[in-house]
Amino acid sequence: MVTVGVDEKLEPILSEVLRRNAGELEFHQAVREVLESLGRVVAKHPNYADNALIERICEPERQIIFRVPWVDDHGKVQINRGFRVQFNSALGPYKGGLRFHPSVNVSIIKFLGFEQTFKNALTGMPIGGGKGGSDFNPRGRSDAEIMRFCQSFMTELYRHLGEYTDVPAGDIGVGGREIGYMFGQYKRLTNRYEAGVLTGKALFYGGSRARTEATGYGATYFVERMLATKGHTFEGKKTVVSGSGNVAIYTMEKIIEFGGKIIACSDSNGYVVDESGIDLDLVKEIKEVRRQRISEYARCKGAGSHYVDGGSVWSVPCDVAMPSATQNELTGKDAKTLVKNGVIAVGEGANMPSTPDAVRFFQEAGVLFGPGKAANAGGVATSALEMQQNASRDSWTFERTEARLAEIMRNIHDRCAETADEYGAPGDYVLGANIAGFVRVAEAMDTLGII
Ligand code: GLU
Repeated sequence: MVTVGVDEKLEPILSEVLRRNAGELEFHQAVREVLESLGRVVAKHPNYADNALIERICEPERQIIFRVPWVDDHGKVQINRGFRVQFNSALGPYKGGLRFHPSVNVSIIKFLGFEQTFKNALTGMPIGGGKGGSDFNPRGRSDAEIMRFCQSFMTELYRHLGEYTDVPAGDIGVGGREIGYMFGQYKRLTNRYEAGVLTGKALFYGGSRARTEATGYGATYFVERMLATKGHTFEGKKTVVSGSGNVAIYTMEKIIEFGGKIIACSDSNGYVVDESGIDLDLVKEIKEVRRQRISEYARCKGAGSHYVDGGSVWSVPCDVAMPSATQNELTGKDAKTLVKNGVIAVGEGANMPSTPDAVRFFQEAGVLFGPGKAANAGGVATSALEMQQNASRDSWTFERTEARLAEIMRNIHDRCAETADEYGAPGDYVLGANIAGFVRVAEAMDTLGII
């Protein structure tokens, strides 16, 4: 059963949230999608609509916007805008990544923080939701510029963080290098070696094994579990993964390990197709070491592969699609093409990569569809494992950490599936994820008084 539209009891709440956040289109999209799932919850538990609980969940607890001045390699002063939206701390300290990308604005950070709140709740771990970042564009910047930017960013942000308060990690444009520079600045400013204040750290200063791989591996575990409900496995499945960043790379790695075949991946300029199976070592070399564009792949690999400039990677026929680049990258038209070409499962490695039209189309066509807030929760779940290791000054093996990640992803899958069943929409992971995440946050908020 596919949910369309918002229940009439929730319509005034949605209108009020949209009015209060005028012009924030991505945030509107994320709120609408969650509220579309809540009609049945409110019908079953009318108390969840009492005390303006839904309105309160849609309003961030705190929003911080700040100036980030820094000096480029030519001695010119540059200004960027920094953000941290501390969305909800009913379940634990705010937790969520930092995104450095020119598209970053309040709407994008709020949609991400809102999604993060439910995603984190779904993991079952004691973490609230937050998100931050900057409109800084790291592309083409030297290492020294990246360091100065990160130091300036943290010079303002540090006062809002703490292992019991708010714990950022990476997201688009923020990886291990940036986390290192920010941790270094936090340490200098506070005179505290507070490992639990950031996650995604390198191993030697409190990082967790498997954190780098976690989002991609987790998305693969989630889809593996979805496929199993229909008696399928990844074995021999042609898979297309959009993006070629951290999430995409480790999604490809795990799918290949599970016997799947990756035939295409992309970046924001275009995509590469390699019917013999994408050579992941080459992608890693190009993206992680040389920091080049994916077009390099076809240049290096030559025969059998080709690069398409522009266009949509979703035009490549496949059995499984893993959108792992960015929001709204997979449109209704792309969904139609994928369904026409026989896709059986879609797992969102990125946050909200499918437009509402695309989601509806997949669901109506009976495609197994794993929404980002469930499918990509492995990254933040492993961040919570990193916090756990930091708190106990321990360091787990890769095997132990990955086993825990796999267990968490299977639990998330099952919780979404069971919730969808309970609310009369079997197989609807969107509804299952939204309701299961919402109920956990709502119960915590209810217990803590009017917060
Ligand atoms: N940015 C990731 C996400 O979207 C990870 C956040 C974290 O580890 O705190 O969930």
